[in-house]
Amino acid sequence: MPPSIMKGLLLTEFNKPYRFSTDIPVPKLETEDDVLVKIAVAGYCHTEMMVQSGEWADKITATGRSLPLIPSHEGVGTIVEVGANVKHLKVGDRVGSLTMQHSCGTCSDCKQGLPKFCDKNEMYGVSRDGAAAEYMVVDSKWTISLPSQLSFESAAPLMCAGTTIYSGLKVADLQPGQTVAIIGAGALGHIGIQFAKCMGLKVVCVDARQAPLDLVQKLKYAPDFALDATKGVDYALKTISGDVDATLMATDSLAAHEYGLQLTKKHGTFVIIGQPTDPIPIHYSHLIFRNLTIKGSLLTDPETLKEMVTLVAEKGIEVKTRSYPIQDVETLLQDYHKENHAGKLVLRVSDDQ
Ligand SMILES: [Zn+2]
Ligand SMILES: [Zn+2]
Repeated sequence: MPPSIMKGLLLTEFNKPYRFSTDIPVPKLETEDDVLVKIAVAGYCHTEMMVQSGEWADKITATGRSLPLIPSHEGVGTIVEVGANVKHLKVGDRVGSLTMQHSCGTCSDCKQGLPKFCDKNEMYGVSRDGAAAEYMVVDSKWTISLPSQLSFESAAPLMCAGTTIYSGLKVADLQPGQTVAIIGAGALGHIGIQFAKCMGLKVVCVDARQAPLDLVQKLKYAPDFALDATKGVDYALKTISGDVDATLMATDSLAAHEYGLQLTKKHGTFVIIGQPTDPIPIHYSHLIFRNLTIKGSLLTDPETLKEMVTLVAEKGIEVKTRSYPIQDVETLLQDYHKENHAGKLVLRVSDDQ
């Protein structure tokens, strides 16, 4: 039986530090499809900052929720309780869950197999309590069991960062031998490079910071080119001897978007993954004279998540993390804001492996 209270982080006010609390009530299952998970690791994503600043306040209130809220939408751990309808998961399973929860099942998106777009979705860490606490209730329909080879620390970043970039590569719809550029070698980019190599693509990675460029060149599936963005797009085009079939923007730097557009060949595909606060400027010539296709990419569905974690486990894809005890979230945040940090920062909620 789980305890009645737990420790965790609370966002009590926008733009204020998280409060570490030791007496948060352990949540109860809300539907017969839910499971209760003892959290091992909670990822910290750029989106967490958008929630903390109040930029996503409308998403919180849309589901009737208000602060306080437990942050983190990248949670992994072990199931301790299952609802009556849950068939594919059991107590003791090591699991991870996508942030989307409780899709309605009846709207046109749900009926077309696109529940990630369901307007009724709640999102844990955004509009319902997230993973930065010892226990979290999640919808089993958005939860998968994890391969035994995958540690919780490697698995947590896959729930958003990994799945977002994997989905972006699928959206780009490339064939083996074609070239993809991934702009931004951070949490998403360094995983995406390895997915792309495993898909048989030629990979150009671009970042303006040296630490992430150093990190990706040491990966087992290193990019074919790791380019310094500060040298400009002409340097990139010359170095790789041509342009690329598709570009994935794994950054929210607005300036990087024009670089990425120029790097993409005529009739190519430009996939937006980062979430800049301001509108993205795109000159009409890229659309009209160069016929680029511009798409976005939002997370994924549970089947594709399963496919992705299996690929990570089987190919030995490296998820570079640095972990912090949950009560040290402020240290994590200080490191997150250091310009030259590399890999993904996560909160260790328990000692479970
Ligand atoms: Zn729906
Ligand atoms: Zn995220």
